[in-house]
Amino acid sequence: MAVPQNKITRSRRNMRRSHDSLVAGNPAECPNCGELKRPHHVCGACGHYADREVVALADDVDLDDDAA
Ligand SMILES: [Zn+2]
Repeated sequence: MAVPQNKITRSRRNMRRSHDSLVAGNPAECPNCGELKRPHHVCGACGHYADREVVALADDVDLDDDAA
């Protein structure tokens, strides 16, 4: 098993970890419903992308029509 040749000091360890923190996302406003969404992603609230609906919401789908 590989063993580190030298101890990593608290200082060096913490310097390495100085870039590990998570950064907040960059939310964009949905042009259809105004909800905050991830840029270049379908809106999770209304299912729209680029001013058209691409994903039908679950409560819009009528399952009884397909039952026949
Ligand atoms: Zn939306």
